[in-house]
Parts: sequence; C-alpha cells; structure tokens
Amino acid sequence: MEDKICEDCVYWDPNAAVHNDCGVCNRYPPQIATIDSEGMGKGFRPMTKSLESCGEFKKAKASNATATGY
Ligand code: SF4
Repeated sequence: MEDKICEDCVYWDPNAAVHNDCGVCNRYPPQIATIDSEGMGKGFRPMTKSLESCGEFKKAKASNATATGY
C-alpha cells in the first residue's frame, strides 16, 4: 500500500521550508494566528515534515522536489 505522506502530496511546498525535511501545506488559505496592535491579522500556513500525513492528502503527479504545491 502506498504511503500518503506530505512529500508526495500536491499541496506540499518543500521550497518554502525553513528547516530541513519540512515544507508548507497549501491545502487551505492562510489562517489568522494573531492580531497585531494595529488590528492587522497575521496569517500562516501550517509547516509539516515530509513524512507526515493527513486526511486531505492528494497525490502529486510528479515529484514534489520542484513543485510549488499547486
Ligand atoms: S498536511 Fe495533508 S494536505 Fe497538507 S501536504 Fe500534508 S498530506 Fe497534503
């Protein structure tokens, strides 16, 4: 059975990583995490490790090594 892991998922962007073996999940739009003193929302997308997974997995057509996640 095939592993359904982030590094093989169409939504994963390894190029946005700031740590080795991590990437950004682009499945959903950025979520507001905090509101600054001027009332501006600061959003982020979740960072995951390459071997993580979730129920939203969708197989990428090619290697994600150069994909943008879309
Ligand atoms: S968290 Fe889920 S949707 Fe996001 S990249 Fe990983 S498997 Fe794909």
